[in-house]
Amino acid sequence: MRSSRKVLVVGAGAREHALARALARSRTVSEVVVLPGNAGTVDVGTADRAGIRSRGIEGSLSVTTIVDAAMHERPDLVVIGPEAPLVAGAVDALEAAGFLAFGPRKAAAELEGSKAFLKELAAREGIPTAPFVIVTRFEDAEAHIREHGAPIVVKASGLCAGKGVVVATTEAEAIDAARSMLVDGSFGDAGKTVILEDTLRGAEASVLAICDGERFFVLPPARDHKRVFDGDRGPNTGGMGAFAPAPLAPGLLDRVEREILAPTLAGMKKDGREFRGVLFAGLMITPDGDPYLLEHNVRFGDPECEAIMALIEGDLAKLLASAARGELDPSAITIAPGAALALVLAAPGYPASPRTGAPISGLDRAAQVPGVDVLHAGTAVKEGRVVTAGGRVLAITARGSTLVEARERAYTAAACVSFDGMHYRRDIAAV
Ligand code: AMP
Repeated sequence: MRSSRKVLVVGAGAREHALARALARSRTVSEVVVLPGNAGTVDVGTADRAGIRSRGIEGSLSVTTIVDAAMHERPDLVVIGPEAPLVAGAVDALEAAGFLAFGPRKAAAELEGSKAFLKELAAREGIPTAPFVIVTRFEDAEAHIREHGAPIVVKASGLCAGKGVVVATTEAEAIDAARSMLVDGSFGDAGKTVILEDTLRGAEASVLAICDGERFFVLPPARDHKRVFDGDRGPNTGGMGAFAPAPLAPGLLDRVEREILAPTLAGMKKDGREFRGVLFAGLMITPDGDPYLLEHNVRFGDPECEAIMALIEGDLAKLLASAARGELDPSAITIAPGAALALVLAAPGYPASPRTGAPISGLDRAAQVPGVDVLHAGTAVKEGRVVTAGGRVLAITARGSTLVEARERAYTAAACVSFDGMHYRRDIAAV
C-alpha cells in the first residue's frame, strides 16, 4: 500500500476518536479527517471543507452526506463507525462512487439490521443460539408466550439503538413488551417483526473480528458495562466502560471462531452477502462453558473499540483496507501485551435526559497521565471552551502492563477532569 494515504472516518463519538487516532498512527497514513467528529477529533482532522458539519450529526451520517464528504475529501479509505449508515447502504454508495470503504455492504449489514435474519442464519448454519420463534402478529406472540411461560426474551427485529430487547421475568411483562412492539408500534418498523427466545444464563463477552468476506482476524475479546451505576445497577446505557482482553477460559476463543465466526462468514457467503468489515459477536458463555450467540453487530462497539484500539500497534489502515479489498493482511498490526480500559465520563441525567453545555476542565492534565488517551464523545467548542454536548462526554482510555495498572491510570486521569454533574462508574473491570 502506498504511503501518504488519506482516511475519512465517519461518526461523532469516542469510538471514532479512537479509530481516528489509531489510523493517524498508521505508517501508510498522512491525513485523517472525521465526519462530523467532535471537539476532540479536531486534533486529528475534521471533514468540514464542504460545510457538511452544519447539517448536524443526524444529517452528517446520511448516505448522501457521506458520499458528498468523500467527493470533497477524496480519501483513499473510508471507515464508517456507526451501524445506521451501514444498514442504510453507505458502503454500496461509496463503492459505486469509486471509493474503498471498510464496512459491510447493505445486504451484509442485515446481520445487525434484522435480528430475524440473524436467527434464521444461525439456525441454517448450526450456530449455537437461544431457541426462538419469529412472529409478526400479536395474537401469535401472546399464544407463544403463554405456552412457553416466563422467563422469556422479547426482541424487536430491527435497529432500536440498544433499546429493543426485554428480558421478561413474567408472562405479563413479555406480553406487554410484545404488545408495545406489535400493536402500539413503539419502535416503528423495527418492531413489526419480533423474536421470542429462551433466556440464557451466564457471563457475556464480546469477540470482534476483522473480516474480508472469507477470512477473519480476531481482536482481543472485550467486556463492557452497560448499566449506569456501580454493581450493574440502574438503567441500561450505551456503555459506561469496557476493558480488553476479557479473560476467557482456555480453548473458548477457538470454539467461538469455529462454532460462531467461521460459520457466520460461510453462511453469509453462501447467501451471496459476503461479509467485509468488523463482525462483533455478542456472546453468552453458559455455566457449562458453552458459547452462545446473542447478537451480531456489524461495527466496532463503543466503548469496546476504545479499549481494543489502545492495544493495537502497527498499521490499522493497512489492515482495514486489506479487509475492504477482500485480501485480509493480518501482518499489518500486532496486539500489544498488557491490558486496556475505557472509562466513560457522563453528563448529569444520562441516560434518560442528559443536560449539556457545561464547560469541561482538566483535559490537558488528564492527558499527561502515562498510558492515557482522553477520547472525546459528546463534546463541542463554545466561545473557545470545550463544553459537554452529549450524554457520554469523554472516554478516558488507559493502557497498562496489567489490567490493574490500566485501571489505576484511567481513574487517576478521570480525577483530573471535572464538569458540572459529571458521573462515572468506579468499578469498571472490577465486577
Ligand atoms: P442483544 O441486542 O440481542 O444482544 O440483547 C441485548 C442484551 O439483552 C444482551 O446483551 C443480553 O444482556 C440480553 N439478552 C439478549 N438475549 C438474551 C437471551 N436469550 N438470554 C438472556 N439475555 C439476553
